[in-house]
Amino acid sequence: MAITSDTHKNDSLSLHETVINGGFCVGCGACAGINNSPAKMHLNQYGQFQAYIDETLINQDSATHSLVKSVCPFSDEGLNEDQIAQELFGRHCEYHNKIGYHLATYAGFVSERDFRKRGSSGGLGTWIVSNLLSEGLVDGILHVHQNHPSNDDPRLFKYQLSTTTNQVQKGSKSRYYPIELSEVLQIVRTRPGRYAIVGIPCFIKAIRLLMKQDAILASRIKFCVGLVCGHLKSLRFAEMFAWQCGIEPGQLVTFDFRKKLLDSPANKYGIEVTGMKNGHLVTCSSPVRKLYGHNWGWGFFKYKACDYCDDVVAETADVVVGDAWLPQYLQDSQGTNVLIVRHPTIHNLIKQAIDLGKVSLSHLSADEIANSQTSGFNHRREGLAYRLYLADQQREWRPRKRVQPDSNHLSQNQKKRQIKRLAIAEKSHFAFNDAISTGKFSVFVQQMNPLIQKYQELYGRRQPLWKRIARGVKRYLHLAKSGKNSHH
Ligand SMILES: Cc1cc2nc3c(=O)[nH]c(=O)nc-3n(C[C@H](O)[C@H](O)[C@H](O)COP(=O)(O)OP(=O)(O)OC[C@H]3O[C@@H](n4cnc5c(N)ncnc54)[C@H](O)[C@@H]3O)c2cc1C
Repeated sequence: MAITSDTHKNDSLSLHETVINGGFCVGCGACAGINNSPAKMHLNQYGQFQAYIDETLINQDSATHSLVKSVCPFSDEGLNEDQIAQELFGRHCEYHNKIGYHLATYAGFVSERDFRKRGSSGGLGTWIVSNLLSEGLVDGILHVHQNHPSNDDPRLFKYQLSTTTNQVQKGSKSRYYPIELSEVLQIVRTRPGRYAIVGIPCFIKAIRLLMKQDAILASRIKFCVGLVCGHLKSLRFAEMFAWQCGIEPGQLVTFDFRKKLLDSPANKYGIEVTGMKNGHLVTCSSPVRKLYGHNWGWGFFKYKACDYCDDVVAETADVVVGDAWLPQYLQDSQGTNVLIVRHPTIHNLIKQAIDLGKVSLSHLSADEIANSQTSGFNHRREGLAYRLYLADQQREWRPRKRVQPDSNHLSQNQKKRQIKRLAIAEKSHFAFNDAISTGKFSVFVQQMNPLIQKYQELYGRRQPLWKRIARGVKRYLHLAKSGKNSHH
């Protein structure tokens, strides 16, 4: 959509004309979660949740219509992450230019029971919400559970309410899968009680914006637990791995995106999929690195919105959990969390648990927490500045961000990488649908490989000559030592 230079200031543009038509909808469902909303959610042909506006409801209530836009995390209407977080945490937390406000920062894992074993990382995500419930601080947890897929509802996962610690534990593990909030928000509205909600950064931002508009939600949602986020995937991500295990799209029953492999570093985890293969229910697992498309840097099946997000660590959440992707923690295959605490009540809960030996946590500086997500921050700071510049060059509407558009800070090679990443993510959606319609996974690989090759070449060229020579010498010496080059 073409814009004039002041279009970003034009509040009269509807959500439909900007966020939805521009492809910036992350499918969170906040707009559809408003009472009598004209916005509804659907899974589109690429396996992504997207909002659409029901034309029959559009002129019903102009106040609702503007509300719809103000709760969208990618519209320009609501407050940004800094403004929301400043109101919530500004008085009692320090500010860091990458991880935002923080009261305390740690790395570690849960020592008690089997939280760590059942979690994706150190198990703190489930432990925190389980303790909010068992300590009587909330009556229910809104988080992502398995869903039994049916013809009407193909989803493997969806937001659900847990009211017992047993149920909470069943909702552990990361789901790199499209989920949306509108259904579960109706539960909060109709069922009085105190709730905690778990979500990726843009979802938590949307919840905060909703809480500003909706007194019931504001009084009932007591805690927001954030997940560090690289980007969100469409449901094709699970299908891509499953297909390589012989389970075709539409035949999946359950999926574990983070199966711990006990003899491998924490970041070399596996996947496990159960589904129908030749009429039989089968379970297949594989180290993820052996499967095509495992590289998150390629950004397969990424929502476009994720390339226009500047929040890596859920800056508006009361507490945030992520993976400690730092060398000193990778060797422990059981997984280690990074933890950012912003809410004093949660801080007390954690301090008590440390004293009682229920969790094993050490302080990690805010800088180190940011270092654990280097690629995420590079992509959402320097990379985002360039993507914004590109969008502005095209004179297209795009969300207003805290990062400013810029093109002078990147080398030609770095710029090309950004352009290629955008192209790869976009192409992956179409290519996988082509593979589905021809019934051949190889179609997907054939369509993606030329782009991937060019993208990888950009990294090859990045290393200076001396580094490449040093790498070659090192490899030669290693082979010579192990006797494998004797025939040379
Ligand atoms: C889409 C996505 C991208 C991520 N990207 C990164 C990243 O780049 N870097 C990083 O360090 N960490 C990332 N994470 C977080 C990481 O995968 C772990 O979830 C986190 O480290 C917590 O692990 P845990 O063992 O403490 O949690 P667990 O004990 O496994 O608990 C996880 C909790 O999160 C809930 N949950 C799972 N999936 C979702 C979802 N899609 N939306 C909302 N709630 C959900 C579960 O229901 C459960 O309550 C990402 C998570 C998701 C969902």
